Amino acid sequence: MKNIIIKTLAVIILISAAMIYYRFYWNGHDGYMPYLKVAGDVKNVLYFNRLESGTKTGLKNIIKKAEPAAMSFDVIFAGTDGLAAKIDDRLDRVSLNFSVTEGWEIIDEDHPVSSHIKHLKEIIVVSKEGFTDNSVTVFSPDSNIISVSPGQMYEKTLSRTLKLEGESKIKRETGEYGVSVYSIVLSMPVSDVINAEYKRLMIISSDGKNLYTGGQGQLIYDDNRILYSDETGDNPQEIKGIMPDPPEKSVSDAYHDALNYIYDGKKVMVIFLDGFSCAQYEYAVKNKMTPYLAELDKAQKASTYFKPVTNVGFAAMITGTGPIENGIHDRSGRALNSTIFQILKEKGLKSILIEADISILDSNADERLNTDRNGNGSIDDEIFEAAKKESANGYDYMLVHFHRIDDMGHKHGPFGKETLDQISIADGYVKDLVNNFSGKVIILSDHGMHETSDGGSHGQARREDFIVPYFITDGGI
Ligand SMILES: [Zn+2]
Ligand SMILES: [Zn+2]
Repeated sequence: MKNIIIKTLAVIILISAAMIYYRFYWNGHDGYMPYLKVAGDVKNVLYFNRLESGTKTGLKNIIKKAEPAAMSFDVIFAGTDGLAAKIDDRLDRVSLNFSVTEGWEIIDEDHPVSSHIKHLKEIIVVSKEGFTDNSVTVFSPDSNIISVSPGQMYEKTLSRTLKLEGESKIKRETGEYGVSVYSIVLSMPVSDVINAEYKRLMIISSDGKNLYTGGQGQLIYDDNRILYSDETGDNPQEIKGIMPDPPEKSVSDAYHDALNYIYDGKKVMVIFLDGFSCAQYEYAVKNKMTPYLAELDKAQKASTYFKPVTNVGFAAMITGTGPIENGIHDRSGRALNSTIFQILKEKGLKSILIEADISILDSNADERLNTDRNGNGSIDDEIFEAAKKESANGYDYMLVHFHRIDDMGHKHGPFGKETLDQISIADGYVKDLVNNFSGKVIILSDHGMHETSDGGSHGQARREDFIVPYFITDGGI
């Protein structure tokens, strides 16, 4: 009797163990296991067809591995049958399971049971924030209009089209058979995201191209990126920003304008106020903080290039080209083939670059570096004194690079008191340099500055970072 009970118990335990194993651990290795994709507003797109140890069932860990681009987000579960469910980011008791009958399946102990999507194909993270690192921002020269992330784009009405990838044919006894191979493209007209009338668009690509178009292209959803393709549907490229009716001017015009004046027999001084946005200029003029700049003809608006950081804007100013041509895409780039300094040297003309304590680019310039000799915490005063001194030396081309508006902008924000004070100081430097110069003076910046929770920053395709003031005036002598 006792034996029978033990045997029965053993059988029950074995069956239970098998059921538990099947329910939770059997991944169907001897069957087909489809790939599951995690995409949208994430840094890393994940594809997997097995559960790795450590991420066994918890969805939170899987999403964490994909690195969401936003602090708060929703998660969409999209099934192969066309059904989708969206939940918020409370994922502590949400898990992923695979079974032969249900495929990939969501088990959610907190949200309503309709979140249990079976035959799951994709998990899309959708940012609930206005801007993420992979967003595309639509902005005019005057204001930001809207930011769209890949996840947010996924939620909008996308058209599904087939893009032909290739064709092949084969001859058989019964005739010739052909096949066409397509990729599925999810897209929407670019005009659908722009809430404004426009005549033309500037498309800002992530590799630094500013593409001017009539605006008939398409935006394409591509996992964790947004691509733009032109009217023909060809040449899709990752983009960061879209500007309806962009300004005529770009920071690279500082090169062309300067050379034109020099070839016309004039001397040129370029005053480069680092990190001075058009928004700051307008604010300072309105609040009477820059009496000299206010006196000049109103600044033209100029666009810079992605990524709007010093090396990129500066390289455009001295090469007349953008990152695609000059090779400077971010802060790490410094090698340049040809610059205005090089060209002038070859023509036997005199030029000089007046800088702070560190050389930024391999500009081939005769560089005058400056340090904070009087220890007042600023090098701009030494740069100003050096420029004043050198401007009497008959250079055909001088470039004077002031730094402190940018420094203060990072620390105190673009409209912080210390930043605005520095803009007033720069206004005085500009006045003095222009009045004591004989020739043409170009005043501009490399990029702007936007506000952050702890000061300011730049490096994004948005109005504050991308639009800078651009002046041309005559020296006072
Ligand atoms: Zn800068
Ligand atoms: Zn900066």
